[in-house]
Amino acid sequence: MTREPRRPGRHFLQIPGPTPVPERILAAMSRQILDHRGLEFQQLGRRVLSGIKGLFKTQGHVIIYPSSGTGAWEAALTNTLSPGDTVLMCETGQFAVLWEAMATRLGLKTQVIPTDWRIGADADLIEEALRADKAHKIKAVCVVHNETSTGCLTRLDEVRKAMDAAKHPALLMADAISSLAAAELRHDDWSIDVTVAGSQKGMMVPPGLSFTAISAKAIEASKSAQLRRSYFAWDDMLSMNSNGFFPYTPATGLLYGLAEAIDMINDEGLDRVIARHKRLAEATRRAVTAWGFDIQCRDPKYYSPAVTTVIMPEGYNADAYRKIVLDNFNMSLGTGLNKIAGKAFRIGHLGDTNELTILGALTGVEMGFELAGVPHKKGGVAAAMSYIAETADTTKAAAA
Ligand code: PLP
Repeated sequence: MTREPRRPGRHFLQIPGPTPVPERILAAMSRQILDHRGLEFQQLGRRVLSGIKGLFKTQGHVIIYPSSGTGAWEAALTNTLSPGDTVLMCETGQFAVLWEAMATRLGLKTQVIPTDWRIGADADLIEEALRADKAHKIKAVCVVHNETSTGCLTRLDEVRKAMDAAKHPALLMADAISSLAAAELRHDDWSIDVTVAGSQKGMMVPPGLSFTAISAKAIEASKSAQLRRSYFAWDDMLSMNSNGFFPYTPATGLLYGLAEAIDMINDEGLDRVIARHKRLAEATRRAVTAWGFDIQCRDPKYYSPAVTTVIMPEGYNADAYRKIVLDNFNMSLGTGLNKIAGKAFRIGHLGDTNELTILGALTGVEMGFELAGVPHKKGGVAAAMSYIAETADTTKAAAA
């Protein structure tokens, strides 16, 4: 067997999740297993169950499943709905497509508002669909907050207003899998009924945990919901979680990592974390625009703070280009998904990312264009550098 030569330095994982895990979190997870029915676990359980609420801005309960985000999607639907119920969904991109496919498989009817995959969900169209539903057949509106395939962020506050304006009683469900701890999210203020998220993106924890914030209205709906559920049943979780425990063996190692991640986010300050994501996203877009490329998100209103999807010039394959970047610079960029496969690539700028991380990544992107012979204008990295320098918090230096 031939061994691959060592690649010095670190791999640049610039996909929009999973994201690199900070040393502090890796160290926190490196612990011996403990009795998950004992007092020490109970303290850990209580700590994470209460800490995670702050990140969703909720006073209500947040369930933590040992599953990827897809499990929380399933739990959201099966705990609140009954066979044949209609759900209103917006096809903002590949993740909305997958959630819709799951709803259909589970025996729900879906009513889909299409988009061209270049904007977020349009609150006006949601309002129109709800007003037309005089019989209140629609039982839930399901929206992907940050569409990770396209880099479009839906304005959930506007979706809430639209639902209120239509005076429609449907539940509001949000997929915040790639927006938790990356974009503003207010589960209670926006009266979201179910918000699902994952550990492996803005939270900086390895893949394997999902989070589900639930409103009182959603808990009420779960009492009469008829879709089948067992492992993902909320009621078992809620009763065991009330004492800090779980109904089955919890993912203890990941929970240690989660506790550390919550501390890190709170130490930095959630608002600052979100502002950092916005700033690095803007720096990335400045680079992309300076190179002369189009951004998949065509309306600034929907710009994502977590990921930028870049459209390749006609005739140049995005995956061939990504391979050149990986082979030469040890950097993984996100692939284009579904109908933009080969046509676009994604730059993740979420999680444990700072100015130099993103500038390093953009440098690799720009050099990659050069090596791959992809026509582009020079100066993308320089544009990002100027923006970062202009917006630097100079009070930090003054205080030192
Ligand atoms: N929803 C969104 C917006 C996502 O970005 C992802 C994964 O990237 C998923 C759902 C699916 O989550 P998971 O892969 O954790 O099951």
